[in-house]
Amino acid sequence: MQVFRENSDMFRLLAEGVSEGIIVVNNKQQIVATNSATDQMFGYAKEELVGQSLNILIPSKYHHAHGGHFKDFLAKSGKRKMAEGRELYGARKNGEEFPIEAGLNPFPLSGSTYIMALVMDVSSRKAIEEDLKLKSKALSSAINGIIITDAQQEDNPVVYVNSAFEELTGYAREEILNRNLRFLQGEDRNQKSIEELRNAVKNGESCEVEIRNYRKDGTLWWNKLSITPLKDSNNSVTHFIGIQNDITERIEAEEERNHWNKIFEESLNEIYVLDAKTLRFISANQGAQNNLGYSLQELQQLTPLDLKPEYNKASFKKLIAPLYSKDRGKVQFETIHLRKDGSTYPIEVHFQISSIGNKSVIISIILDITDRKNYTERLERTVEERTKQLRQALEKEKELNELKTRFLSLVSHEFKTPLSSILTSTTLLTKYTQEEQQPKRDKHISTIRNKVKYLDNILNDFLSIERLETGKVKYNLVEFPLSKIINQVIYDANLLLKTGQTINYPENIDDVMITFDEKIFELVLSNLIHNAIKYSPENTKIDIQVKETGYALQLKVIDQGIGIPKEEQKFIFNRYFRANNALLNQGTGIGLNIAKQHLENLGGNITFESEENKGSTFTIEIPIIVEEKVNT
Ligand code: ADP
Repeated sequence: MQVFRENSDMFRLLAEGVSEGIIVVNNKQQIVATNSATDQMFGYAKEELVGQSLNILIPSKYHHAHGGHFKDFLAKSGKRKMAEGRELYGARKNGEEFPIEAGLNPFPLSGSTYIMALVMDVSSRKAIEEDLKLKSKALSSAINGIIITDAQQEDNPVVYVNSAFEELTGYAREEILNRNLRFLQGEDRNQKSIEELRNAVKNGESCEVEIRNYRKDGTLWWNKLSITPLKDSNNSVTHFIGIQNDITERIEAEEERNHWNKIFEESLNEIYVLDAKTLRFISANQGAQNNLGYSLQELQQLTPLDLKPEYNKASFKKLIAPLYSKDRGKVQFETIHLRKDGSTYPIEVHFQISSIGNKSVIISIILDITDRKNYTERLERTVEERTKQLRQALEKEKELNELKTRFLSLVSHEFKTPLSSILTSTTLLTKYTQEEQQPKRDKHISTIRNKVKYLDNILNDFLSIERLETGKVKYNLVEFPLSKIINQVIYDANLLLKTGQTINYPENIDDVMITFDEKIFELVLSNLIHNAIKYSPENTKIDIQVKETGYALQLKVIDQGIGIPKEEQKFIFNRYFRANNALLNQGTGIGLNIAKQHLENLGGNITFESEENKGSTFTIEIPIIVEEKVNT
């Protein structure tokens, strides 16, 4: 001690200049000298330390161990760092423990060994270390992927990667470290935000981008990446910290929303969202605006009632009531929409209740069904038309059936009498064998011819009807002298004349030529003359007059017969119609009907005037066809 004290001036001189604590102990661990830094570090006054055991500066829990170490140290001697590999603590006067680092330096002095300990208070360094440890732990346990790149190495390679990043990308740390992070983009390098990122790195700036990245297994994930440059004291960028966020779900949701938005906007159907309480429109797609001619702003002032003229407030409320019921049904109906310009179009409406946040809304989808309506209407019209045709065909069929039935009953009635008189006449004929009985034979032959003629007429009439009905009539227009047919018909009719009946030929017809269907003309004329004979009593005359009126040939058959009752005149041309006063005579009620039809088909007509018990005048008109003469 003495020796040391003698050297103390020298020691002080040397020791006071350093900032570390210097403690000199003898081989019994007694403190022999300290410098001021030591006193301050441990909180003692110098006098309090010198002469004390070194243990005063060591937390008591380490005293025992320290004793052992010290002996060891003396035995081995030599310079070294104290407590290599272990944490070392000092104890301040106030009892506080603090981390230290100490270097030991033994030296001999006057035959004794002393040890000089160089002590450093490392509390603040330790605190920094702790802080760093904490931060590093935070980095590595962060849920965001965090990487640090070294901006001063070529191609900015990754020098740190946390485990979240490994998890996020599926790559292991070793696969990521020392590489440029662009490998995360795979082949998908043509992204706008990559350009932005590249510029930020180049300029040493921070930036935030959303880019498409790919995991090790190739799946896409959306990376919201923010990079921040770290700068040194010279303001040059040393590192970049990159924080990666997996925003795939958000982007996918956004994409889906965009997709729905697009569908909403681009749909040609009208789509509306309306407030379920006020029924005011909240939103309407472009299709709705286009169809109606209203802008969204205008629509937002309206309710569906303004567009649906077929409903009033009460009836509309009633219609949509199911939407508000417990089981919230859908409502579907057809009505019309009123455009801004006042025009309307048919629509099919679908209403459904939904909600946006807390707000109850009605989603309305509306289809313009003009085309469908037109189609339906067309279809309905076609069906109607076809039904009409079918009905007509059925009617015709019925009529034909009726005709056949009538024909059969006619055959049985109308044919019976003439056939039996033919039979009688032929029977009688065989009896008149004498030569002088010739007049009697002639009478019977004439009866037979009459009756056959009559039957032939009836049959012709029926055939005519059948042809007219089935559209099989073919007219054959030829030019012939009028007198030819008139003579023939009158000649045949003579056989039918009753006693005293006469037929007066028309005058001045010798040169008259007509162009008409010969057979039809004969049929019409014989019908009229036979009727005149049939419906006139004996000793009456029948006049036939012919007149040309310029555009038509007029032919009248005038009789002095029973006439037609006034009230029945309007039915005379109906098929099968027979007037009351005619029923005693044989007849079918067909003749006039077919005469009229044929004449009209050929551009002519038939009319009559008649007075009961005085007589009738039937007039036919036949168009005069002037054949064009070509001048040569
Ligand atoms: P049908 O003579 O076979 O009965 P028509 O069609 O020729 O059939 O005539 C229809 C009806 O018109 C006759 O039943 C008759 O009542 C009336 N009728 C036709 N011609 C005359 C006439 N010249 N005088 C009086 N009645 C006539």
